[in-house]
Amino acid sequence: MDKPVLVDSHCHLDYLQEKGVLEQAMTNAPDYDVYYMNTISTNMAEFPKVLKIANSYDNVFSCVGVHPCHIKDHPLVTYDELYEQTKHSKVIGIGESGIDLFHDKTTLDLQEKSFRTHISVARDTGLPLVVHTRGADYDTIRILKDEYEKGAFPAVIHCFSASRELAEESIKMGFYISLSGIITFPKGDVVCDIVKDLPIEKLLVETDSPYLAPVPNRGKSNQPAYTKYTAEKLALVKNVDYLTISSQTTQNFFTLFKKAVK
Ligand SMILES: [Zn+2]
Ligand SMILES: [Zn+2]
Repeated sequence: MDKPVLVDSHCHLDYLQEKGVLEQAMTNAPDYDVYYMNTISTNMAEFPKVLKIANSYDNVFSCVGVHPCHIKDHPLVTYDELYEQTKHSKVIGIGESGIDLFHDKTTLDLQEKSFRTHISVARDTGLPLVVHTRGADYDTIRILKDEYEKGAFPAVIHCFSASRELAEESIKMGFYISLSGIITFPKGDVVCDIVKDLPIEKLLVETDSPYLAPVPNRGKSNQPAYTKYTAEKLALVKNVDYLTISSQTTQNFFTLFKKAVK
């Protein structure tokens, strides 16, 4: 029988490095079937650290972008700045970018401008866009559909906790949906109910480490290893076995992130 292989499709390994727990997390990961990780940039100032981590480990990939909650602190990232970084072999996607009105309602215009810049680079490079959306279903759908009509681009809605409508509109555009530890939380039932009806070949799993540790480690610092708990829960939700979920979500990851070389 094949052994299970998982990918943590979205984590922040630079934050683990700051806490001094990166080495241990890398050691733990294979014990929990996690053999690949995608470490995600949240602002351009920190991106060199993110890239350095990806370059230090064969099984770590990275994405370049500016999180919607970080745009206030820096000048807006330009198309050329993002595009330039996609030339690195370990940069396999664009993000995370998107709209977050949960943390900040006052910067929608800036967030939208930044989001559209990220989308242009994703479209032109063919590298998947990693979408962060929180408390902003309406605007996220509006912008994604508007941009998609101008020209297709690949994308994943990361840490999915939005509405059925957002999930369905995303699937229609060929996007993927990534599930985090949220599906293991009691309030995750709402999300699980939506995920039940989504095509299994469009699903990814992630930790968003160091945030959102799944049950049974909820409240602790998260690490890529814990992708396993989310995958186990997803297997239950989709009514398939753990090995099926691990091989399917890993295959989905490498189908979406075509530049990632195993
Ligand atoms: Zn996010
Ligand atoms: Zn994130």
